Amino acid sequence: MTAPERLVVIGGDASGMTAASLAKKMRPDLEVVALEKGPWTSYSACGIPYVIGGDVDSIEELVVRSPEQHRANGIDARAMQEATAIDLDAREVEVRDLDAGRTYRLGFDQLLVATGATPRRPPVPGFLHEKVHGVQTLDDGAHLMRHAKAIGADRVVVVGAGYIGLEIAEAFVKRGATVTVIEREPEVLPATMDPEMGAAVRKAMEGHGIDVHTGDGVEGFDGRAVQTASGPIAADLVVLGLGVTPNSTLANEAGIALGAHDAIAVDFRQRTSADGVWAAGDCCESFHLVSQRKVHVALGTVANKQGRVVGINVGGGYATFPGVVGTAVTKLCNTEIARTGLNEREAAQVGFGYVVGRIESTTRAGYFPGTKPISVKILAQPGGGELLGAQIVGEEGAAKRIDVVATALTARFTVEDLLHLDLSYAPPFAPVWDPVLMAARKAWDAVQLERTTRG
Ligand SMILES: Cc1cc2nc3c(=O)[nH]c(=O)nc-3n(C[C@H](O)[C@H](O)[C@H](O)COP(=O)(O)OP(=O)(O)OC[C@H]3O[C@@H](n4cnc5c(N)ncnc54)[C@H](O)[C@@H]3O)c2cc1C
Repeated sequence: MTAPERLVVIGGDASGMTAASLAKKMRPDLEVVALEKGPWTSYSACGIPYVIGGDVDSIEELVVRSPEQHRANGIDARAMQEATAIDLDAREVEVRDLDAGRTYRLGFDQLLVATGATPRRPPVPGFLHEKVHGVQTLDDGAHLMRHAKAIGADRVVVVGAGYIGLEIAEAFVKRGATVTVIEREPEVLPATMDPEMGAAVRKAMEGHGIDVHTGDGVEGFDGRAVQTASGPIAADLVVLGLGVTPNSTLANEAGIALGAHDAIAVDFRQRTSADGVWAAGDCCESFHLVSQRKVHVALGTVANKQGRVVGINVGGGYATFPGVVGTAVTKLCNTEIARTGLNEREAAQVGFGYVVGRIESTTRAGYFPGTKPISVKILAQPGGGELLGAQIVGEEGAAKRIDVVATALTARFTVEDLLHLDLSYAPPFAPVWDPVLMAARKAWDAVQLERTTRG
């Protein structure tokens, strides 16, 4: 009797376990072994800030499916097992059993690398100190929570004003800590939002008692204070919010090709450069449908979809992941923040000219109780008015409007197409011209004006 074909998955979270579950469901004869170096599988890292802030009671509530539950579904899910090397010639993975302290080799027919990403650390002295926390896995979140409880953590410094930094800052404010956010760029959310939209977010942060230091680089941490260009800031705990780098070293050391931002290079079916080896999630690159470039987008939305594609392909079907338009949403206390497509800097980087439509409006009819402010910015190409991207900052009911623009971007709309969309209206939900349509109208006006001036 021949041994069953074996899929080995490295990384037991969003992309890895989505693929493992689907492949097993489609091909019950397939042996699926999932290696996870931490104690948990299939968890929501996105929920960590809400556990820290007390909206969710415990870390355990973020676990969607435990290793035991996966095993009950026929997947050999192994926690505390770290893949330390991939041998493509022998078609084996070297595994370190972190509980037993032994190393073994595990053969594979097909392999999925789903190792996620690692928070960036500033290359200055002291940032490997035990008081400096990066948050990526549930284990990281649990460790941060334990540490914060043990020491009280009255003064928290967040280094980097990316969206995770902001969510963690809000969480510690809710815990009663004094929170400072340090950002080297002139405004918060510098990678995702244009400066004037970032300024609105910064105002909201300050309104919630967060001390925001922009244009200030970190120079070191001595265990008591973060040194910055403008002086020391006392810190019981430091959390990183500088974005992430893909965990691609394991693949790269095996000879698998890397692509954008050192993420694992993949094709539209999530195949890597090595035969029978797939990659999905934060460790690999994606294709950006607007810029038509390979990018690295570390988001759960993307990881789950890429994992699904691998699962179908390994399970004997055919699936592709066409790409992303760069949609993301977050919130800072009452302020909702969303973006999709390209911002001004990204548009310029890929050589697109752009015009801007920007409006200040309200989330419901102006007279309706509970109406909140919303600011929408839309970018479009001059000439044809092709939609390039949008950003939204506002209060309740603002952020999810970005999904209309994300859909329009995917459908390759112009801003004129967008402004003609038959969106819903009633006073409790929107003004008669939805703020997204108003911004599209402004952008279309700018396209026409540019045409006229150009002659
Ligand atoms: C605080 C926070 C908030 C977030 N909020 C959002 C949000 O609101 N919306 C959104 O879309 N995304 C959000 N994300 C991002 C989202 O969580 C990730 O994009 C997603 O989890 C990526 O899934 P993945 O499977 O690629 O990697 P991960 O979820 O990082 O899983 C990789 C797993 O691989 C394991 N691993 C790594 N190396 C090895 C090895 N050598 N051997 C064995 N195991 C290994 C790791 O322990 C980890 O469990 C957030 C992330 C964080 C940290």
